Amino acid sequence: MPRFAELRARLEELERWLLPAACLLCDAAIAPREDDALVCALCRSRWRRVPGPLCERCGQPAFGDLACRICADWTPGLRRVRSAVWLDESARLAVHRLKYEGWTRVAESLAQAMRGLEPLTGRVSLIPVPLGVRRARERGYNQSERIAAALARHTGAPVRTDLLCRTRETRTQTTLTPEARRANLSGAFTAGEVRGLELVLVDDVFTTGATLASAAEALAAAGAASVDGVTFARALEPVA
Ligand SMILES: [Zn+2]
Ligand SMILES: [Zn+2]
Repeated sequence: MPRFAELRARLEELERWLLPAACLLCDAAIAPREDDALVCALCRSRWRRVPGPLCERCGQPAFGDLACRICADWTPGLRRVRSAVWLDESARLAVHRLKYEGWTRVAESLAQAMRGLEPLTGRVSLIPVPLGVRRARERGYNQSERIAAALARHTGAPVRTDLLCRTRETRTQTTLTPEARRANLSGAFTAGEVRGLELVLVDDVFTTGATLASAAEALAAAGAASVDGVTFARALEPVA
């Protein structure tokens, strides 16, 4: 065996040994070669897919001809959004492990669940929703970037972290009214040279789409050919 291959095999073995042998969500033992996942196959299979038929635009389950109240006042710059699973207890825990506990390889499992989402086809570039400078410094990494990198390994689409910048921190959105939320986010992003590009924003959780819409507005204004969004999870009770 060539030297580097041997070294690589040793390092992989060491890494596997350092990783927890139990699922980060349910504590069950994980088989050594189960995709080197940090979340077991059973937990992943229990995540609930967002069921169709969907609102063509925002990806929320649609009810007959009723007008969608999620995307009615989105900026035209955001074409469509799709999410893989509902943000139930298990999905929420997975996001938490990735976002706040430093288990960045959980992104692999999230990306696996996101494979096949409609916006991820064609010649698209992936843009992780950026964090503000302060939050990025506190956390040390951007969870959306980790998800985008894992998606890129599956789809071959390039990840571009140089095209969108968060110019100011925004307050936590959950307690704000829709009007206050829009004001809170307007002008929060600036875009680089994106003329003619087909872009897909990548984020961990979809709540109201306000953040994606704000980012898409900046990208569309800078000349992007199209802007879609994908997220791993979708909040169960969106605050409309
Ligand atoms: Zn599990
Ligand atoms: Zn909709």
